[in-house]
Amino acid sequence: MASAEETLHAALDAAAGDTTLSFAGDGTEIRLDRLAEQSRATARALAAIGVRAGDRVGLLFGSEPDFLRVLLAVSRLGACACPLPLPTTGRDGYPARLRGIVETAGIRDVLVSNRMRRSKTIATALHGLRVLSADGLDSGGDTRDLEVSCDDLAIVQFTSGSTARPKGVRLSHANVLAGLRAIRSGVDLGPADRVAMWLPLFHDMGLFGTLTALLAGAHTTVWSPASFVKDPAGWLRAFADGRHTVCPLPNFGYDYLRQAVPADEVAGYDMSRWRVALNGAEPVAEDSVRSFVEHFAPAGFRPAAMFPVYGLAEATLAVTFPPLGRGPRTDWVHRSRLTDESLAVPVDSSSPAARGVVALGGPVDGIELRIADEHGVVAERERVVGEVQVRGPSVTPGYLGDGHQPFTADGWLRTGDLGYLAGGDLHITGRSKEMIIVRGANYYPEDIEGAVRADPGVHRRRCVAFADHDADGQERVTLVAETVTADEDERAGLAQRLRDKVVAVTGLDRLLVTLVGPHAIPRTSSGKVQRLAARGRFT
Ligand code: ATP
Ligand code: MG
Repeated sequence: MASAEETLHAALDAAAGDTTLSFAGDGTEIRLDRLAEQSRATARALAAIGVRAGDRVGLLFGSEPDFLRVLLAVSRLGACACPLPLPTTGRDGYPARLRGIVETAGIRDVLVSNRMRRSKTIATALHGLRVLSADGLDSGGDTRDLEVSCDDLAIVQFTSGSTARPKGVRLSHANVLAGLRAIRSGVDLGPADRVAMWLPLFHDMGLFGTLTALLAGAHTTVWSPASFVKDPAGWLRAFADGRHTVCPLPNFGYDYLRQAVPADEVAGYDMSRWRVALNGAEPVAEDSVRSFVEHFAPAGFRPAAMFPVYGLAEATLAVTFPPLGRGPRTDWVHRSRLTDESLAVPVDSSSPAARGVVALGGPVDGIELRIADEHGVVAERERVVGEVQVRGPSVTPGYLGDGHQPFTADGWLRTGDLGYLAGGDLHITGRSKEMIIVRGANYYPEDIEGAVRADPGVHRRRCVAFADHDADGQERVTLVAETVTADEDERAGLAQRLRDKVVAVTGLDRLLVTLVGPHAIPRTSSGKVQRLAARGRFT
């Protein structure tokens, strides 16, 4: 038998005590020790119907306690939990995507919530598999505790699918525990904290964030993503009233909060207890961070709480964290030297050539990080731009399936992200797959989007840039922006204004501006923009 704390379930059992979890949706509150006990009964029920060590079990749940009960039960059996993405309204192709995921993962059994069980879409996608409602799995015959090794797979975490179809990241118990412990120590999370979570639990940040909070003995409140998105101000009220101290949000979440609370109402919120405001999972925008901090100062939000971070599913989430309490920092660098020379050359923030890149801190516990150029040569000094590569105990042994694996010959994880180190901090500049090349010159889509996203005509800062070709086969860039403006003249004016802004910032003139309605730009189920899918849709 594995000794205590070598497996996910043993570590959570040892941490359990009187830690509580609240679910804002239906107001349920459950103690972690109770949840752990229920998960033992569920494990017995699963064993009784033939779920065995090594099986891959799909989990399809909303933000509800059953998700965690079932996850722990699967872990106790030495089987591997595969959290599956939920359907999202307005996005096509979900059944095929879900089917694809289930097939690559070799899943035979899918555990679902009652609500999911009634969904036609899900029934179609999972046709032919054993679909079990978690409700019926709360008692079972007697089985002895199984031996689970720390090297057994605990979780297959699917990537968000920002650049391609989601990949199944294999994570052992040892990987997961190393990842959770690195997060816990990086934010010094403990029983005095109250963690708020509205990210989907099937998403890496939602899942590992919640598990870390439980491991640290911090009270955690879980909301559904929809409740945040529909009413950010209402959510902020509940967050503050609940005296929460830690919450992770992707950058767009900070924008939503700022836009939802008018300046003259800010002082009515008490945000002074917010100790760590993690900002990650997508690029951290300098202007989002700055305006959030300024906007919420009258509510007592402390700038030092803003905590820009970097991570990915392949590393059980966390890769770099800044020092606690330091507050956000921006490195201003010369935009075109970044792309033309792969160098981050400091310039004055007021220079028209300046691009602000937010510092993301240094490697978390156990992680080593390096920057390598396209030939694999490792940068020996700071400010050289290249691919971010990492290794450490929380890093995956590889993806599911025999396809492409994300490693260098010497065993480092290739993140596919481009960035540089400066002052010991990682700075991310973009993803290599999304780089735009027009007539031999490189552009980051972030620069093009960054030039226009704050324009009042752009709906919720939503826009996306990618390379494509005009009718004559000439290379150009397409910028797609969402807008609610219907008037033809106004739309023409907006398109012209956006074009002028891009030209002014990047010098790029081979540009097509396309305006679309709200929600037309494809996004992942966790709200990340899909630039490559957008290219497929709009060209
Ligand atoms: P897929 O791998 O399926 O295309 P994904 O990479 O978005 O999707 P995740 O593992 O959930 O899936 O997200 C990690 C990625 O998110 C990172 O590799 C990086 O591209 C981006 N990211 C995370 N944090 C930051 C950050 N602070 N700044 C810029 N990008 C970030
Ligand atoms: Mg990825």
